[in-house]
Amino acid sequence: MTRRQYTQHGLTVPYIAAWSGESLLSPPIERRTGKAGPFLAYVDESPYDRDEYGALWVRQALARGRGRAKFATAHALRQRQAAARLLCQVCGTDTLMTSPDRQLFVLKDTGQPVTEGEWTTAPPVCLPCAQVSVRDCPHLRLGHVAAWVSQPQVIGVAGILYDPKTLRRVPLPRNRATTKITYDDPRIRWILAARLVTALHEVTPVELDELAAVPPADRPPGHP
Ligand SMILES: [Zn+2]
Repeated sequence: MTRRQYTQHGLTVPYIAAWSGESLLSPPIERRTGKAGPFLAYVDESPYDRDEYGALWVRQALARGRGRAKFATAHALRQRQAAARLLCQVCGTDTLMTSPDRQLFVLKDTGQPVTEGEWTTAPPVCLPCAQVSVRDCPHLRLGHVAAWVSQPQVIGVAGILYDPKTLRRVPLPRNRATTKITYDDPRIRWILAARLVTALHEVTPVELDELAAVPPADRPPGHP
């Protein structure tokens, strides 16, 4: 599927980037009790508020292209779609169409290559968008690492954890914005999810400069 591509100040706005018109909502929450015990819920919860594994998701307005693009912030639903369906986080196309056996992941450089089993909230990128991502993404501009990943596996969510007794947010360490929790962790009942977390398996680190040497004739149509 071809999705509309937006630019802002000459930079490509990633498909998953949030826009200023896409505000986060804060509906009232409550503690409910089900067959397996208590859990966090919205007072006016609808079936769309949970994913297929039962995690409660943050509500965020959908208005892609409205206002100003926030390059450093992903939209919760588009990140979730891209991570679950392996859509390119920059252009939104299905990476399985052009690369069914492995996906390209580009991550912020933290001083080591992409490691086997590493967790990330970054969805993959398609090959033509890899160079765009390291040029235009504020997380990657200062340094990146890349890898082909044959077995990317969604394992849980990143979000804000709530205290089951007080229903207050559990404070985070200063350098972290979210808590990452796997679906088999009992605390999944008390998190308000904002991102899917993917574990990267069968990892082959790669230099993007080498990929850039792929001749244009080998690239899929519709890409620069
Ligand atoms: Zn792309």
